[in-house]
Amino acid sequence: MNNLDLLWNYQTKQIELERYEKKVKDTPLRRRLITLQRFLQQGQKLLSDVEKQAKLKEDRISEIENKSKSYVDDLEDLNKDFSYYSECDPEELDEKEITQAVKEAERLGDNISNLRKTISRLRQEVEVSDAKIRDNLMKMRQAKAEYDKLYKDYQVEAKSIEADLAEKRSVVEKAAEGIPADIMAEYNRIKANREDPVAILNGNICGGCNLQLPIGISSLIRNSDKLVRCENCGRILYIKE
Ligand SMILES: [Zn+2]
Repeated sequence: MNNLDLLWNYQTKQIELERYEKKVKDTPLRRRLITLQRFLQQGQKLLSDVEKQAKLKEDRISEIENKSKSYVDDLEDLNKDFSYYSECDPEELDEKEITQAVKEAERLGDNISNLRKTISRLRQEVEVSDAKIRDNLMKMRQAKAEYDKLYKDYQVEAKSIEADLAEKRSVVEKAAEGIPADIMAEYNRIKANREDPVAILNGNICGGCNLQLPIGISSLIRNSDKLVRCENCGRILYIKE
């Protein structure tokens, strides 16, 4: 085998390895695991958000309950006043004071009823949050169970992939043996931009870019001790015998 034969063989093995590496990065099992992992992370975040919201609402409810309780106390005081008025001699009563007290009692009554409405609305919202949390937890438990099961399969898969990769890598290493350093360096420079730095010459057409090259290119390749590259795409040209 001459240097170009070696290089062509090396490229073939290297591309095989690269394609295998790409393929195994994206197996259905891996993809599903990544999806489940994302779902679990998002679920965690949702849970903590909903819990925070629910906590704020609970705090608000106890705040309102305290306020409502103080209104109820005020109203009880007023009721005491009313029973006092009812025992008084009507002549002695100040009508203005009583009207004022009645208005105040109405105001307190309205306030209490509004606060109770708010509390009941907040309680409903907390119940919705609780239902959301329960639903999310259930879905997360299912996802976690699937994840754990698939992860075991994945470990088996990963082990066999690792073995295949090691074998393919050693094939590529072996294929590099005997290729002179300067040729390998030039190959690697082209490899930085192209998957396949070596192209087969078909007639006088570059197999890499399909451009027709000058007549005589094949004899140039055969007789040159340097690498000949396609003037269009820069690939190293190779004649497969
Ligand atoms: Zn070309």
